[in-house]
Amino acid sequence: MNKNSKEYYLELARHCGICKNDLIYPIFITESNQHKSLVSMPGIAKIPYHKIIDHVDNLMKKDLRTLILFGDPKKRDEKGSLSFSHNGIIQKTLKLLKTTFGDKLSLISDVCICQYNKSGHCGILDTKNNQIKNDETLEYLCKIALSHSEAGADIVAPSSMMDGQVKIIREKLNNEGYKKIKILSFSAKLSSSLYKPFRMETFLRKNLKNLDKSSYQVSYCNRKEIIREIDSDIREGVDMVMIKPSITSLDLIYQTSKTCKLPIVVQIVSGEYSMIKAASSIGAIDEIYYLINLIGAIKRAGGNKIISYSSLDLSRFIGR
Ligand SMILES: [Zn+2]
Repeated sequence: MNKNSKEYYLELARHCGICKNDLIYPIFITESNQHKSLVSMPGIAKIPYHKIIDHVDNLMKKDLRTLILFGDPKKRDEKGSLSFSHNGIIQKTLKLLKTTFGDKLSLISDVCICQYNKSGHCGILDTKNNQIKNDETLEYLCKIALSHSEAGADIVAPSSMMDGQVKIIREKLNNEGYKKIKILSFSAKLSSSLYKPFRMETFLRKNLKNLDKSSYQVSYCNRKEIIREIDSDIREGVDMVMIKPSITSLDLIYQTSKTCKLPIVVQIVSGEYSMIKAASSIGAIDEIYYLINLIGAIKRAGGNKIISYSSLDLSRFIGR
């Protein structure tokens, strides 16, 4: 078989155990009426709320049925209060998608305030000492997770890396009658330059050029600390753990898979996506072949589900 042929790539994908059911597709929903293409992420756009049904309908035709939603609200305020509004962009979208598609679609919602507050930080900022207030942030995360559950989320995904976020959200959801809602924690969100394209689109163009989140994300150098973060989420009752970025975390995925009985979700983040697109655009790599290599390596290391901006491209390639 020709090693540059579609048949060969498809066989390789099968060998690696890559299937559409493992792919999760991230979507940005904007309150603006304009479809906004993301310059640093070719092929990705912020989708206006009024176009979301058509967009998701197209994804479902390609068998993409698990989506993770990120909101792009019109306004930000000091504390990000629109993040838990019943009329917020994510809450409205969850309601609309669940009413339209029901259980054919599995919806994960990003639980954080950085898209909604003026600081762009994932927590409430104490402006006197420039520190994040962990416990005050937890109260916000609970409100956001509850409002998403009420609106129809199947899985809530706290991404702010605050200490104790899984425990307090689990308790809140259980007390409010949402025991069935699962929690996917961004357990090991390594501090990395690979988030830059996402941040360029969501933060830097809003004059937040010096945003430094390293105080609450984990250093990629400290393996023990990272494993501790994952263990702590498991003890707090998380249903799935997430490790990101992918390419710099294969050892962590492998180590976690040796003891963790829960699904391990791995995100191929925006910077990885942009690098793949850039290299492919000058003919330096074959995009689909590389994606199969990368996802094959993540699966070999022990990852179960993959969040990727390339999910749609891969789904199209794999076909029926
Ligand atoms: Zn955040």
